[in-house]
This record gives sequence, C-alpha cells and structure tokens, in this order.
Amino acid sequence: MSSITTISQLSKVLNLTPDELAWKETPISVPLSITEHFMSLIDPNDPNDPLRRQVVPTCKENHVNRGESEDPLEEVSHSHGSRLIHRYPSRVNFLTTDVCPMYCRHCFRRRFTGNLAGPATEQDIQSAAAYLAQHPEVKEMLMSGGDPLTLSDSMLDHMIGEFRNASPHLIIRICTRFPASMPSRITEDLVAMFKKHSSAPFYLMTQFNHPRELTQESIKAVSLFVDAGIPAMNQSVLLRGVNDDVDVLEELCNKLLFNRIKPYYLFQGDMVTGTSDFRVHLEKGMEIERELRRRLSGLAMPNYTADLPDGGGKVPLCGSYIISQDKEKGSWNFRTPEGETRVLTDPLYI
Ligand SMILES: *Cc1c(COP(=O)(O)O)cnc(C)c1O
Ligand code: SF4
Repeated sequence: MSSITTISQLSKVLNLTPDELAWKETPISVPLSITEHFMSLIDPNDPNDPLRRQVVPTCKENHVNRGESEDPLEEVSHSHGSRLIHRYPSRVNFLTTDVCPMYCRHCFRRRFTGNLAGPATEQDIQSAAAYLAQHPEVKEMLMSGGDPLTLSDSMLDHMIGEFRNASPHLIIRICTRFPASMPSRITEDLVAMFKKHSSAPFYLMTQFNHPRELTQESIKAVSLFVDAGIPAMNQSVLLRGVNDDVDVLEELCNKLLFNRIKPYYLFQGDMVTGTSDFRVHLEKGMEIERELRRRLSGLAMPNYTADLPDGGGKVPLCGSYIISQDKEKGSWNFRTPEGETRVLTDPLYI
C-alpha cells in the first residue's frame, strides 16, 4: 500500500463519518493525500483522532466564513516572481515546489500548495539567485513550499548550489514535514548532500503537532540531520481538537526537546479560507501559553505567535507581564507567572 489519495481508498481503511464523506474538492482546497506511514499512526476506531483530523478532509473545509481570505498574509503582494516572498528585510522564502507527500487540512498556504504547478523552474531558480546577489541584506532563506524534500537530492543540490553561489553566507532553513509524514525519505545520502554545501549553516524546520507523530522512525530521521551538525527546530500550529490542550503540548514540547528538536513556534492558525474547524479562541490560546510557560523550561517553550492580517507580520501572543508603569519612580509593576506582583525599578532611578 502506498499513499491514499481518494475517498474510496480511504473508506477501505477508515469508517468515514458523514462530514468526511461530504467533503468536496474545490479549486482552493488542498488535495487528499495521506502517506502510508502517517496512516499507520491513525487510530481507526477514533473518529476524533488528532492525527486523523490533520489529514482527513471534512465538509467543514467547504464553508467560507467571514474574515477569511485565501492569502491573509498578503504574500502575493510581497512576491518577486511566483516563487520568492520577501516579507521581512533579512530573510526570504523560496517556494521550491507546491507538492507535498501528504496534505495538511490546516495548510495556510493553500492558495499555492497542491495546485500541481510542480517544482520551481530553472528560470525561477536563476531569478531568485540574482535577487539574492542584489540583496546582501538577506541573511537567511527559507526553502519551503509545498515540501522541498519532494524534490530529488540532485535537484536540491543544484538549487542550493545556485543560491549559495549567489550569496555564500546565506543561512538556509529546510522547512519540511517529511520527518512526520514520510521519514524514510531522509537518508544518509540526502544529509551528506546538505553537508557538502558547508559555506553557511542549514537549519531543519520540522512540523510536529502532536506527540504521537514523534515515532522512532521520525526521531531517527531528524537525528541524521542533527548528528550532521544541522540543528532542528519545530513549528507547530495550534489546532482545535488536535493540540489545543496544555497537557498535549507539554508532552509534545518535552518530547521534541528530548530528541534535540527545539520547539520554535506555536502558530495561531491564520484566517485562511477552509480552515475554520481548526480555529482556537485567542483567549484560550493565551491561557494555554501562560500555563505552558509555567510548566516548561525556557528551552522547551515555543513562541506562541500570530501572523497579523493584511500582511501585518508576526507578533508574539505571549501576553504581557507588565501591569503598569510608574514614570515618576521609574518602576514597572509586574505579575509573576504564579500570579503574584513584583516591582522592577529602572537602575537609573535607584
Ligand atoms: C515566518 C516567515 C519568515 C521567517 O520568520 P522568522 O520569524 O524569522 O522565523 C520569513 N518569511 C515569511 C514570508 C514568513 O512568513
Ligand atoms: S506540509 Fe506544509 S505546505 Fe504541505 S500541506 Fe502541510 S502545511 Fe501545507
């Protein structure tokens, strides 16, 4: 058995609910594809299984709600060509391909993902490389998509060579869900190819949303990178019915950290059309964040972050620990994580 890509294949392995059976593929929805590996982790007897929710579509995707958009981050207006997004001064995002081995129902880049446009063309690669050469303020490139590891090792080798040739000290982030969706893709050969391009560091950016996704195979796959000197960082999305629970996130973050994957971001879901079923109330998210900060070490704690609408960019949602400021005394009143208060005075005023 390979990946599942049709409802009829899916109905042979899962007892589909009426909502799941009523899903309709539309131009903005991402395709149905569930890898064999991920399928094997789904509990077929639980219609609310948190892994199932991430990959099995329902008719709730077909609802268009107020406040939603296909491109709430206004990535299109920050794009240079169809593949390069330059939203923040020091870093760019290169959309290597729109293909993923498995599609997340919460995908926020569904305007692009899964349209089957395929890999970036040689012209896309050359124009991105030229852009890098003209913009030395760009220190980092996110290679994302879609999933860059759907490309062959030799294609990745070529792209990275062109980008590093244009900008030798460019830090490259490989943004991929393969460690969760298909860990067998990550081989010694792949990692050796990255290591060959050693003029600047790579970072592996994973997406694990639930502790059950961190299987032995996944941990092994990430270890190949980390052992090769490529640090791993995780970006989770806060998803209703998947991980909107402080115990689940505590377990996820501790398990990530133990396996040398630094919890980096916990994203508030963007207001993307078709993802309303995954939305978590901001107040609930902030409450989870406060409790996580009490329970987790600084290393295990991700940054709970929203990408503001209309291209406003990322902001931390950690709430403030400042209650008030006394300008005359040069002091600030703080609440402590335990809910007490303390005064911090500016050293110049003591
Ligand atoms: C999130 C994002 C980045 C990277 O932001 P960091 O805060 O540095 O992780 C870069 N480009 C785009 C378009 C992004 O959305
Ligand atoms: S792996 Fe990323 S790009 Fe691919 S479907 Fe999931 S969220 Fe979207």
